[in-house]
Amino acid sequence: MATERTLSIIKPDATRRNLTGKINAKFEDAGLRIVAQKRIHLTKAQAGVFYAVHAERPFYDELCEFMASEPVVVQVLEGEGAIAKNREVMGATNPSEAAAGTIRAEFAESVGENSVHGSDAPETAAVEIAYFFSGLELVG
Ligand code: ADP
Ligand code: MG
Repeated sequence: MATERTLSIIKPDATRRNLTGKINAKFEDAGLRIVAQKRIHLTKAQAGVFYAVHAERPFYDELCEFMASEPVVVQVLEGEGAIAKNREVMGATNPSEAAAGTIRAEFAESVGENSVHGSDAPETAAVEIAYFFSGLELVG
């Protein structure tokens, strides 16, 4: 399997509870390397562009409010099959359905406030990485 990069976000419910280190340990234990990382506070409009694919969903407004409520940590994870591996480590969207040991099973508060985002395909990973990081931030 090829080396890939994926875009990860540690969401406000997790940064608020000081869980960044514990979540990063899960990524690193799974063989994912954090090759870029920064803490930012999104505006609701910036969150809205990021989640534009969900614009017609009933939870869209609430999701954008949540993502802009407190700082997030955006990061690029790299590794063999990083996109699928990250989704595995994250667990299912709804924490009540997430497998034991996954980030969402251990830390998520609800289906909306579920601690992490991870890209779902190579195409979305490329777009999402470019939304947050410049080429200069992605050396090596
Ligand atoms: P994932 O983050 O697992 O890829 P989706 O792409 O389906 O999940 O949804 C994006 C985000 O929207 C979720 O992580 C969650 O924060 C929020 N969300 C999804 N479904 C719901 C829902 N039924 N109610 C509230 N928020 C939701
Ligand atoms: Mg998704």
